[in-house]
Amino acid sequence: MRIDLHTHSRASDGTDTPAELVRAAAGAGLDVVAITDHDTATGWAEAEETAREVGIELVRGMEVSTRHQGAGVHLLAYLPDPTHAGLEQALAKILAGRNSRVPAMLERLRTHGIAIQAQDVRRVSPGTAATGRPHVADALVELGVVSDRTEAFRQWLNPGRPAYVDRYAAGLLDVMAVVAEAGGVSVIAHPWGRRGPDQPDEAEIAALAQAGLAGLEVDHQDHGPDDRDRLRAIARNLGLVVTGSSDYHGTGKRDHDLGVNTTAPEEYARLLDLAAAAAERSGRATPQVLRP
Ligand code: AMP
Ligand code: ZN
Ligand code: FE
Ligand code: FE
Repeated sequence: MRIDLHTHSRASDGTDTPAELVRAAAGAGLDVVAITDHDTATGWAEAEETAREVGIELVRGMEVSTRHQGAGVHLLAYLPDPTHAGLEQALAKILAGRNSRVPAMLERLRTHGIAIQAQDVRRVSPGTAATGRPHVADALVELGVVSDRTEAFRQWLNPGRPAYVDRYAAGLLDVMAVVAEAGGVSVIAHPWGRRGPDQPDEAEIAALAQAGLAGLEVDHQDHGPDDRDRLRAIARNLGLVVTGSSDYHGTGKRDHDLGVNTTAPEEYARLLDLAAAAAERSGRATPQVLRP
């Protein structure tokens, strides 16, 4: 069983349509794939249709932009009811924050002599509900300013670079609570990928486990072998599920090919048990795993 629990489509900042993503997952020999676009479930329906066609197991999820103790935290939410009002409102606010920051980024680029307009970004991001820096990067590529996304981030879009603009993110604990209310389960994506090793440390992760966190994404390209070993030990100590995934973005992100990291079948089974329990507690009609 090859299980990849974190991928992006064009519904956010991947380069494959949801249908292409699911086809690519089947083509890569995966048995299970989760679609986890940033801050949106808009890719789910198309992914579902294709999963039925190609006969792959599909988990519907999302990667929510949150903030905790001053730092950005990406929270993978699996199998929540996307029609839950609180969840919808939280996502709407995040998406509004994404949209409102784009003009500010473009203004900064224009200050630096780059003639880039909102329509340039729209043209390269058909189908997205979650406009982000990767789309601004793609527009810069199309305008011939940089050669690829990586260069765009390095020169312009990373924190500290001239066109970086922060955006709204929801409180981590609030999002975890709303995901639980919506009958889903929460896993911290690439826990040490952004702030570096030990942030959050074991004590902080223990507090999150107390607050209902289900798992940690241990096997991710942002983590080196030592960090993975240490995160795995923390997860074991705290009884958290250990996941592994590619964080695939199509051609939008190097070294994140489908299946480059995978989740052990027994860990996946535990995650689904926790999701079933959360769904039961919530009393909501949650999406089920689609089995071929
Ligand atoms: P945003 O959510 O709009 O702030 O953009 C963050 C997204 O940009 C994340 O999904 C990352 O996967 C992506 N990203 C960050 N750095 C790079 C990079 N160097 N190349 C490609 N994508 C990147
Ligand atoms: Zn992304
Ligand atoms: Fe992420
Ligand atoms: Fe991601």
